[in-house]
Parts: sequence; C-alpha cells; structure tokens
Amino acid sequence: IPVDPFDLVVFGGTGDLARRKILPALFRRFCAGQMGANARVIGAARADMDDAGYRSFVSDAIAEFDPDAARHKDHLDSFLANVSYVVLDAKGDAGWDKLAATVQKGRVHAYYFSVGPGLFGDLAQRLHTYGMADANSRIVVEKPFGHDLASARDLNRVLAQHFDEHQVYRIDHYLGKETVQNLMAVRFGNMLFEPLWNSQYVDHIQITVAESVGVGGRGDYYDRAGAMRDMMQNHLMQLLCLIAMEPPAKFDPDAVRDEKLKVIRALDPVAPDNVVRGQYEADGDAPDYRTQVETPDSRTESFVALKAHISNWRWAGTPFYLRTGKRLKDRASEIAVVFKEAPHSIFGAEAGRHRNILTIKLQPNEGIELGVTIKEPGPGGMRLLDVPLDMTFAEALGEDGPDFPDAYERLIMDVIRGNQTLFMRGDEVEAAWQWADPVIQVWEEGGETPIPYASGSAGPDDALMLMHRDGRRWREIK
Ligand code: NAD
Repeated sequence: IPVDPFDLVVFGGTGDLARRKILPALFRRFCAGQMGANARVIGAARADMDDAGYRSFVSDAIAEFDPDAARHKDHLDSFLANVSYVVLDAKGDAGWDKLAATVQKGRVHAYYFSVGPGLFGDLAQRLHTYGMADANSRIVVEKPFGHDLASARDLNRVLAQHFDEHQVYRIDHYLGKETVQNLMAVRFGNMLFEPLWNSQYVDHIQITVAESVGVGGRGDYYDRAGAMRDMMQNHLMQLLCLIAMEPPAKFDPDAVRDEKLKVIRALDPVAPDNVVRGQYEADGDAPDYRTQVETPDSRTESFVALKAHISNWRWAGTPFYLRTGKRLKDRASEIAVVFKEAPHSIFGAEAGRHRNILTIKLQPNEGIELGVTIKEPGPGGMRLLDVPLDMTFAEALGEDGPDFPDAYERLIMDVIRGNQTLFMRGDEVEAAWQWADPVIQVWEEGGETPIPYASGSAGPDDALMLMHRDGRRWREIK
C-alpha cells in the first residue's frame, strides 16, 4: 500500500548508517512502489557537497548495499531525481534557512536523527526554531538511547521540549524483523500456543543473539558501551517483552507498548551470581578484544549471559536465560521456548525424555520451528524421535511469495504511516535502564575483569554453568 507523500530529512545523511541501511532501504521501498514518485529524500550533514555529489554518494551506497541493485537499476534515476542535499551544522545556524525552504509544507515530515545522541537536543531545538516542527512532523532516533537511566531521561526530556511522545520514533531494528512480528501472530492468532504459554507448561525460555564478528571499526564506541548496554538493555529486552507480555486488547501502539512495559517492570533485579560477562581472546590472525579497542586494560564485556525472572502470575518460576556476544561460533539469533516434559511416559524409560521446543529464528534465516516427538519409523518397537515442524517462511510461502522487506524498510515506512507499534516508547526505554543499571554498577564498582573466552566458542564456560547448575543447557549456536 503506497504511503502518503513525504519529505524525509536524513541528518547525518553522509554517515555509515545512512549509507548501509537508510538510503538502500528507501530505494527498495521506492522500487516496490510503496514510496510515491513525489516523496523526497533530503540528506543533511556537515560534509560540503552539492545535490549532484550527494546523488552520486546515494547511488554508490545503493550499489554496495542493496542486494538487488542490478535488478532495480531502471528505477535508480527516478529515485535520485527526488534526492537532494543541504550542508548544515547541527550545532550552529549554518544551512538551516536553506533546509527550512526545502522542506515542503502540508506533507508528512520525517526527520531521521542518524547522528550521535549528543546532537539530538540541537536538532530538535533548531527544527522548532526554524519552523519545521508541526503536527505532521516525526523524528526518528537511533540507539544508543542513553548510556544509563539518567542520560536516557535527559534525552527524553530534551526531545519532549519540542515534540510530543507520539512524534518520537525510537528505532530498535530487531522489532522490524518479520519473524519478530510473526511471533505476535503465532502467539495471538492461534489457539494452539497461548493456553500453554505460562510457567505451568514452559520450563524455560532462552534468547540468544550471537555474532561471529568482533567489534570491527566500532571499537571506540563499543568499549564505552559493552554487550549489556549495546545489546542486552535494548534488543534482547525487547524480544523478552514480546515473548512474555500479556495479550494486548488490540494491536495498537499504546496497547502493545503498555504490555511490554509491564513485563520490564515485573523483572526481578538480577543477582550478581546470575550474570556472566566475558571478553574474547585472540584467534590466529584475529586480534583479541583489547587490541581491537586499543585499550590494553579494558574491562568492557563483549559477552554477557544472565538469568532473569519475571515476577508475575504467568511467569513466576520460569527462568529466562539471555545471552549475547561477539566473536562467537556463528552468527545466530533465536528465541527458544522450551516446554516441560510430559508428566508421565507411557513408553517407558527406554523411549527417552522428550520435550517440545518452539524456536523463533531471527537470523541468519528467519523462521519458526516447532520440535515435536513422533515414533521413529521402522520395526524397532516404540522408539521416539524429535523432528522439527519447520515453518521457515520463505519455504512455506514458496518462491512466488512476497519479498520480505528488511527491518529498516518496514520501520521507515511505519514512521511515514505514523504507526508507532514497533518503536520503543520513552517509559519503556527508561524502565529497561532501571533494570540494567544496577547490574552494570556492580561491575563498575567491583572492578572485576570479564572472563576471557576463546573466539569462535560459545562464550565463557561459566555461561554454560549458569544453565548446567539448573539442570538445563543452552541450545547450540549454529
Ligand atoms: P557516522 O559517524 O558515520 O556519521 C555521522 C554523521 O553525522 C555524518 O553524516 C556527519 O556529517 C554528521 N554530523 C556529525 N556532526 C554533525 C554536526 N555538528 N552537524 C551536522 N551533521 C553532523 O555515524 P553512524 O555510524 O552513521 O551513526 C549515526 C547514529 O546511528 C549514531 O547515533 C550511532 O550510534 C547510530 N547507529 C549506528 C549504527 C551503524 O551501524 N553505523 C548502528 C546502530 C546505531
């Protein structure tokens, strides 16, 4: 469905995120016919460039980061015809008059703040001063949304001075993934799962977001953040909310976000012995963490695993094990809902122990899989076997099925449509920091070094022990 005409200003339009994600995503939506021919994209950044220079920058970004660039090449010129650029300083007045004259009145205005959070306040204030903030305006902000509770509150306050909460879109690209939304469809669109979705039937839930790469070129930023701030407080927390929340009365932004917030507020504080943090070591030619961040004595974690408890009627007694890290065995993200064993096996001890596991896979291939127990085929008596009921979407819908838009494509179009369901509300972000801050504080005050782990492993052995001691184990990262 095509969206209304809009002007999208990308502050930081020459930056890495714009190049890799935002601009290619816009082009793909243009090619899909969702973005009308009159929608305009305006890059705004400090680099001295004219419209032609920026169009060539955008064209290069598309060639590099749109996997279908070759197939889409006939659309490129018409897309670029609506791309322009304004040289502008967020901290000064240079360029703002020109931007104000460029932005057209009477249509949706989306302002994407693809710059460091230190500039959010300057941008919000100048948008206001130069008359570009009105009822049709939306602002999009990126992570990191704060460094702790106090800084997140400050950011919320700064934005709230010029924009209402319903105009602020805090992006968490995990929420834009097709499977994550499907998780809600599976939970609330089927009768099959919801009656079992509680501590009476669910033994535990595991959430893994494993990356095989190291910190790469983001070492400077990452070393000030670490896995708890960079991943756990936002992405894993959001996944936890969607898996654990009560059914909202309707699929509307505030109804969904109210339920997510209740989950975060029901989280128990994490006891120090329920958290493990690690830091990767060198592997062959690949350097260790500390060399990559150029801080020889860095105490920042590149891995964190923890056990969380949600103290409410539905989940009391069901632990949630969460882990995320860099330089792990593989790039793999999934949520696994591990059901309890049947209370009694009529097939005797030799049939083994079996449990159903519902796995929601986020990457590399998005899909949902349900492990069910069947009889092992053949004449060998009643032996049981676990097989997956695979609901990998691409396969289920066939080759002629719809293309799955990338998370940024979907989320940017949601901004234009004015749908905040998949964006974090200010109070959610603050509540998540309130939960994460004490964990980080213990580390900072304790001065302990994270446990080294081998690159290409599943993280420190202590993380395995976190589950072993409860008689459970992590699913393999593959
Ligand atoms: P970047 O350093 O590559 O780009 C920053 C952009 O901001 C450039 O276009 C620069 O010209 C512009 N800029 C800087 N100071 C300015 C000023 N005073 N006035 C006007 N423009 C100014 O950064 P990035 O990697 O693109 O990241 C942008 C934001 O997105 C950051 O908040 C970052 O944390 C976040 N983010 C980035 C990624 C990523 O993969 N790069 C992922 C998630 C979140």
